[in-house]
Amino acid sequence: MPEKTWRQTHVKVEVSALNFYTFTVTNRALSPVAMPFTHRSAAADVRAMAGENAAEPLRVAVLGSTGSIGTSTLDVIAACPGWFSPFLLAAHRSTRLLLEQARACRPRWVVVVDPAAAAEIGVGALPEGTRLAVGPEALDDLVQSPEVDRVVSAIVGAAGLRSTWAALEAGKTVALANKETLVMAGPLAMRLAERTGGRIVPVDSEHSAIHQALRTGTSDEVTRIVLTASGGPFRTRSRESLVHVTPEEALKHPTWSMGPKITIDSATMMNKALELIEARWLFGLPAAKLAVLVHPQSIVHSMVEFVDGSVIAQLSPPDMRLPIQYALSYPERIDGPTRRFDFTQGMTLDFAPPDPERFPAVRLGHEAAARGGTAGAVLNAANEEAVRGFLEGAIRFTDIAEVCARVLEEHPFQPEPSLDDVRRLDAWARQEVVKWACV
Ligand code: NAD
Ligand code: MG
Repeated sequence: MPEKTWRQTHVKVEVSALNFYTFTVTNRALSPVAMPFTHRSAAADVRAMAGENAAEPLRVAVLGSTGSIGTSTLDVIAACPGWFSPFLLAAHRSTRLLLEQARACRPRWVVVVDPAAAAEIGVGALPEGTRLAVGPEALDDLVQSPEVDRVVSAIVGAAGLRSTWAALEAGKTVALANKETLVMAGPLAMRLAERTGGRIVPVDSEHSAIHQALRTGTSDEVTRIVLTASGGPFRTRSRESLVHVTPEEALKHPTWSMGPKITIDSATMMNKALELIEARWLFGLPAAKLAVLVHPQSIVHSMVEFVDGSVIAQLSPPDMRLPIQYALSYPERIDGPTRRFDFTQGMTLDFAPPDPERFPAVRLGHEAAARGGTAGAVLNAANEEAVRGFLEGAIRFTDIAEVCARVLEEHPFQPEPSLDDVRRLDAWARQEVVKWACV
């Protein structure tokens, strides 16, 4: 495992901060917030610019620590001694697991967002040195603390927007799993980060792959980004049979182990729709340069095509701990817990275009990415509500994309929404889905 001493002796400052800026400026067409850089030796400079002390473990706030991404984040932190120190763990209501995590890693703070759940925490349940804060406002305040270096944004759904916003407002570096932030309010969040000096390093495996591939070229050399998709559990199922899919079937993903919401999104391929919108804003590329390719092995996590026809891909076994670790250690690469390929064994990689008839959600993603404005927020909210309806047995699997398409089409589109507009249309879209399901 990597030791801190390694880092202290090997991070040399060979390239000045000015060089980094020069590089960034020449790549203006891609957003500087998400722009990877090629000079590894400038790592300490980049850290210094972000207000991080390269000689100390990075102090990490894990938002959504009890979820799938949150628990994998704590695995990474535990597997990389000396590199990261958990400052804050936050969850909604899963206090049992949260307290277990607090006892194992001794953060300075735990935050329980739901006050009713927090009220059940008994006196003496917290380990010594850990304090409890309650509610979303407390979380916003703590995320902005000068004692936080990096924020892992892993709250699920639209609920993750506000704390991610708070982190960017304070100029933090955000390891972003909560794609909904960019789907709902991409241009606003990117502008905010540019203004405050905040940075976004993606955790979504596809966007992490793209971020890594982009380090090999300049923005004007990029011709296309190809997001890979596993195709989910129904990749080979007939269109007719999809009508009868049950929540139990849809919750079984063939290659990834994830939270329930994103697992359903993978089954409908709405996850890829959301990821197209996420990529559009994160990398500042027009929707026409974004494509989707089904790749059932989930080994190639995405690809970038450059002007000369070269395609650069990132490959690794399907394990979210790698993109989480990359986002935490960026711009450095460190040893970690992820399993390696066994190249003495053969490997087969398949690719096929998605079927628009069976998976209409992908088209909705392209459409919303191209339209911008309020389209992403409306699609996201309609989908969250439709997934909830499906899991509760109120609507069928195939209804999810259908109702999303209808709400997207009928919504009062705004090209330059404010955050308030986004929130208002999020609420509107949810109501429309409920009305549709009740008819
Ligand atoms: P999950 O359901 O497993 O966990 C969600 C976490 O968010 C929990 O800790 C929960 O307590 C917390 N939470 C829920 N509602 C909250 C609220 N209102 N306030 C505060 N905390 C709240 O979800 P997940 O699968 O870990 O996904 C988290 C995010 O990461 C999602 O945006 C998802 O799209 C994204 N993501 C996940 C994966 C994956 O492999 N799981 C991959 C890529 C991106
Ligand atoms: Mg993904």
